[in-house]
Parts: sequence; structure tokens; C-alpha cells
Amino acid sequence: MSDFLVVGGGVLGMLTARELAVQGATVTLIEKGECGREASWAGGGIVSPLYPWRYSEPVTALARAAQRAYPALAASLLSETGIDPEWEQTGLLMLDAADAGEALAWAARVGSRMVSLDRDQIYAQETLLAPGFEQGLWMPDIANIRNPRLLKSLLASLRANPRVRLQEHTSVVDFLREGSGGESVSGVVVRHNGHSAHLSADRIIVSAGAWSAGLLNTLCVALPVQPVKGQMLLYRPTAQVLKSIVLTRGRYLIPRRDGHLLVGSTLEHTGFDKSTTEDALASLRASAEALVPALASTPVLRQWSGLRPGAPEGIPFIGHVPGFRNLYVNAGQYRNGLVLAPASAQLLLDIVLKRPPQVDPQPYDPATVRSV
Ligand SMILES: Cc1cc2nc3c(=O)[nH]c(=O)nc-3n(C[C@H](O)[C@H](O)[C@H](O)COP(=O)(O)OP(=O)(O)OC[C@H]3O[C@@H](n4cnc5c(N)ncnc54)[C@H](O)[C@@H]3O)c2cc1C
Repeated sequence: MSDFLVVGGGVLGMLTARELAVQGATVTLIEKGECGREASWAGGGIVSPLYPWRYSEPVTALARAAQRAYPALAASLLSETGIDPEWEQTGLLMLDAADAGEALAWAARVGSRMVSLDRDQIYAQETLLAPGFEQGLWMPDIANIRNPRLLKSLLASLRANPRVRLQEHTSVVDFLREGSGGESVSGVVVRHNGHSAHLSADRIIVSAGAWSAGLLNTLCVALPVQPVKGQMLLYRPTAQVLKSIVLTRGRYLIPRRDGHLLVGSTLEHTGFDKSTTEDALASLRASAEALVPALASTPVLRQWSGLRPGAPEGIPFIGHVPGFRNLYVNAGQYRNGLVLAPASAQLLLDIVLKRPPQVDPQPYDPATVRSV
């Protein structure tokens, strides 16, 4: 029996398990596949919401807290595991945003560095961009993280921690209820290799990404979190084509430290279907080439997809599951689960461990269910 069961080994579950163990708790992390191989692996790793001024204050509050935490997190994972998550401060260049005035006002209000660029300044900065861009917004402090490496490094950290037990290839299928009214949970029912077993803990945290709603539904708890498929492409140009992350019309290019270039992403409401499609390949290729024409002669190295945990307005549910004393959820980070992860995990821990929260928990309270 552990102090905590964490259900779901994505970025949120792994960060939560690591931090609980640092605080001295024993943790069992249960993952239906391999840790870190779902949305958290599929994502682009931009450490900022896209068009951040268009999000509500609760998303901004978590994003800003997490952006402050990321450099130290990446450095501590590198020194602990030898795996570098490659937190890279490339900056974010947004082209021809129709609401630039609102963006600049937002940046001044929240204290984010954002500069307006004219055409000459855009092309002085990114020489290989297609012609025709007239106006840019430049956020020099924005970074990207190489998420698969972040996840490998988190996994190595968890494997080395004697307080953490990892149960991969194990699905949680139900909860064990306690009390006459079922007001707490004493453990979970798991399936592993075709066999069922019970695992017990004092407290349980559900961080099962897009699958969280289905799991909580077994307790008749309605959580409006839905899968939203995203497809991406990977290029390996022979020479560097971009210095910074570039975003226009909802599509973006992310340069990695070693020269790889990611292109994202689609937004598809197709349930739990994770297949990649020719349509998405063509559409993402067209977006990439419209930004950087040189990519027309570069082959696509890979195409993949992932299921974002979509919550209304992209505001995650973080806190007590209503009606259950010792059950918590951390899910629904939608398009921003990588950037929001450190602050989301921190907030949940503040709630669980009854510490003064660094971010006001109220907007994320699962008891205030927002409509889809
Ligand atoms: C194409 C794409 C691009 C993205 N780009 C960015 C970006 O640039 N920046 C950003 O911040 N975010 C981005 N995101 C969003 C981000 O990836 C997600 O919000 C984030 O990874 C969600 O993390 P998670 O831990 O909640 O979910 P997941 O990583 O999906 O992890 C949930 C885990 O729970 C496990 N699980 C589910 N059910 C069970 C069960 N019953 N029992 C045991 N285990 C279970 C799953 O197997 C999975 O491993 C992107 C997402 C996609 C798809």
C-alpha cells in the first residue's frame, strides 16, 4: 500500500509522482501503456499558449508560474538523470495577428515582453520566411522544451526513486469505494496481462489526460474533458531555416536545438481515433511551405498524432473530485499541457498537502463544472 496512487503516466502524472516522492510520500504510478507516450510525447513543446492574450486569466496564471519554473526543472532533471530536456529559449514570432493591439495591451498588463515588428524587422530576424508578412509580434522570452526528452528524463528520475513504484502496462478500470455513501476511495481495480487486481492507497490522483472523464464516469462523476486529436510533422532540413518558433494562422514551426523542425498542428474532434491522415499531411505541409518555401524540397521525416485532453476554455480541472474526500483530478490542460504542467502539478500538490497555494485554486475547482 502506498500513500498515493497516481493514475496516468503523462507529463502531469510523472511530475506529480516525482514531487510527491520528493516530499517524502510513497507513490504508485499506474500507466496503461508506457509512461509518457500519449499526448505528452505527441505535443510540440512550446512553453507558451499560442496567442497567449486570447486565453483567460486562469490559463495565464498557470502558464506564467510554469514558465518561471521550467529552467530550474530542466536543469535539475539534467543533473539528476543526465538526460537534457533541452529547454531552449528561441523566442516566439507571431505573424500578421489581426488583434496585435490587444496582444500588446495584454503583454503590458501581465508584464510579458512583447515587441511589435515591421516588415523589415521580421525579415532581418528570419531571412528564409516567405515574402508578404507585414506585421509581427515578437516574444523573446518564450522557450520550447523537447518533450520526449523531458519525459525520458522524468521517467529516469522516477525509476531511480525508491519511494516510487511504477506499474506500466496496467489499466485502472474501476475504483474501490469506502463508506456507506461511497464518500471516499480506498484503491483501484487494475487489469494487467488479462488479470485483475486491487491496489490500495490513502489518496488517489487521476491524471489520465483525455481518458480522465471516462475513468471518473465509473464513479458517476461528469468531467467535461474530451479528446481532441492533433497531428504534427517532423522535418530535418540540411541547414537551419528558422531561429525562433514562428506562428501564423494557427499553424507553427518549432526549431529544435539539433536542427529538427516540427510543424503543428491539426485540431480534430474524432473521439479516441489516433490515426494519421493524408489530408493532415497535405495541409500541414502546405502551412509549412507557406511559411518557409525552402521546405518544399525537404522530405517529411515523420507524421504522428496525439489526443489532447480538451476542457472548456482550456482551463484544466485541478483539485478534489466532488463527493470524494481522498480523490483528486488534474486533467484538461488541452493545448497547453506541456507549458502548464509544472504549475498544474504544483497546484494540485498544494491542495493535496494543504500548503498555501501559489496560484488561486478556485478557477480550476472540479466542483465548478464548466459546460462544454
Ligand atoms: C499535436 C499536439 C501538439 C501539442 N503541442 C503542445 C505545445 O506545444 N505546448 C503545450 O504546452 N502543450 C501541447 N500539447 C498539449 C499537451 O501535449 C497535453 O495537454 C499534455 O501532454 C497532457 O498531458 P497529460 O499528462 O494530461 O496527458 P497524457 O500525456 O495523454 O497522459 C495521460 C496518461 O494516462 C494514461 N491513462 C489513461 N487512462 C488510463 C487508465 N485507465 N489507467 C492507467 N493509465 C491511463 C495514458 O496512457 C497516458 O499515458 C499538444 C498536444 C498535441 C496532441
